[in-house]
Amino acid sequence: MHKLNVAIAACEKCPRLMEYIQQVAQTRRRAYRDWEYWGKPVPNFGDPAAKIVVVGLAPAAHGGNRTGRIFTGDESGNWLFRTLYEVELANQPESLHREDGLELRDVMVTAVCHCAPPANKPTREELQNCQHWMKATLRCVGGWKVLVVLGRIAYEWTLRALKELGFEHSLKTSAFAHGAEFALPGDRWLLCSYHPSQQNTFTGKLTREMLRAVFDRAKQLAGSGK
Ligand code: SF4
Repeated sequence: MHKLNVAIAACEKCPRLMEYIQQVAQTRRRAYRDWEYWGKPVPNFGDPAAKIVVVGLAPAAHGGNRTGRIFTGDESGNWLFRTLYEVELANQPESLHREDGLELRDVMVTAVCHCAPPANKPTREELQNCQHWMKATLRCVGGWKVLVVLGRIAYEWTLRALKELGFEHSLKTSAFAHGAEFALPGDRWLLCSYHPSQQNTFTGKLTREMLRAVFDRAKQLAGSGK
């Protein structure tokens, strides 16, 4: 995983995203003016022997693109890691920076796009480019049992990666729903959750209980924590 993460961080395949993440890193947000932003593709984070792989959309401009760790330094990450802590898949609820001591147990966190996109919207071409890393990640975490996809876009591009990796399925993009679960070949599973973005958490579309229920179920299906 270390080699893969180094390769992801060195990727320069998407010119628009390269320009954007470097520009954000240079201009910074006032609240973070003392930070040295990461300003590169954000690698995977977690346990290389994980049975559960969490798939997000993309790093946030002032979250992962600032801290260099996926889902770290923004509200979505606060929700995700607090939930992982509550279900005993993380050693602490906070995720502040790369050296904050956070460790995940049996979980790897990745994204279908490893660079922060303008307005949180990668183009289809950028998502297509990043499929290479998604497939490499799933090959590297070879013992995974459960994929937890956060949001419809992560779901759609995870389905594509699975097909290309030889997991035959007939799942449709339209089947995405919070809490939906699908069996995959080889006694593996795909679970869907709304993304813990502020758009969903501030409006109550996604509650802490709803997110926790997804990870309780993921743990059960993966046989984690035994
Ligand atoms: S989005 Fe993915 S493919 Fe594009 S530059 Fe970033 S890491 Fe590379």
